[in-house]
Amino acid sequence: MEYVAVIGAGTMGNGIAHTFAQSGFKVHLIDVNMDALEKGVQTITTNLNRMVAKEKITDQQKEDTLKNINLFTSMKAGVKDTNLVVEAATENVALKLKIFKDLDEACPKTTILATNTSSISITQIAAVTSRPEQVIGMHFMNPVPLMKLVEIIRGYNTSDAVTSTIMALSKTLGKAPVEVNDYPGFVANRILMPMLNEAIETLYNGVAGVHEIDTVMKLGMAHPMGPLQLADFIGLDVCLSILNVMYDGFKNPKYAPCPLLVNMVMAGKLGVKSGEGFYDYSQNKKAEIISKQFLN
Ligand code: NAD
Repeated sequence: MEYVAVIGAGTMGNGIAHTFAQSGFKVHLIDVNMDALEKGVQTITTNLNRMVAKEKITDQQKEDTLKNINLFTSMKAGVKDTNLVVEAATENVALKLKIFKDLDEACPKTTILATNTSSISITQIAAVTSRPEQVIGMHFMNPVPLMKLVEIIRGYNTSDAVTSTIMALSKTLGKAPVEVNDYPGFVANRILMPMLNEAIETLYNGVAGVHEIDTVMKLGMAHPMGPLQLADFIGLDVCLSILNVMYDGFKNPKYAPCPLLVNMVMAGKLGVKSGEGFYDYSQNKKAEIISKQFLN
């Protein structure tokens, strides 16, 4: 593989670029926003420095990883002779359909087009291209350099050969790929999101407070983080949008987002990224409990 093109240099895109580059792949990291590219490289550098400090990699490996990454603001220039694209742009259906249509025109006919979408149908994305058998979901987990799982999602038309190639490639990145089919939420979010939504509903119904709900799940179920704090980390807007995709896709009320989640997103309380969600993250506070009542 000559080089891998990664579209989007945000939270996931820079982690994906880091992971490929550290495994020896040349990477073209592409974003419409130059600031996002610069910030992405800063994040990769900080994460590599941390790995050097922990003696997980050497200084030379850090330098080699950074040298493997080239930055592009033009998608056309960045993908023109790649054999694999991993798209990790903003989670928005119209945007992804446009990107895949453009990729189909700009990339060689043999290029595999993968998407890191959390919830959008792979089959729908593939349908705007002339190569639906070469479109596949490659759903990395956050933070990408540390998390082992990659959910490999087969669209309705994804070929066996492309699935095998992407499964094998994921293993060469040191990841544990798991093959799943393309239905709303795939596997990871289909199971995770109803649990997070139920934790929010439990709070909304006044059964217990934020601290109590998270403590029950941490100490009782050995979860490393409580569900409300995890929702804050993922982003409450992201959780809402994934629940809406499942609610629309299955037409089943069990996926209906809790009204408290909807209200918090409308109020701009998105979790860590906005400084407040179920916990307070403002001024470097680390998940302090908010005294606010979240009751129904
Ligand atoms: P983000 O907002 O941090 O980054 C998105 C980046 O895409 C931004 O830098 C933006 O400038 C760029 N972008 C937008 N339009 C573009 C275009 N046309 N061409 C190139 N770049 C463009 O988002 P994120 O959290 O990294 O999420 C990216 C994808 O990964 C989404 O599909 C999301 O569902 C998925 N995902 C996110 C997580 C997570 O925990 N954040 C986990 C798994 C999967």
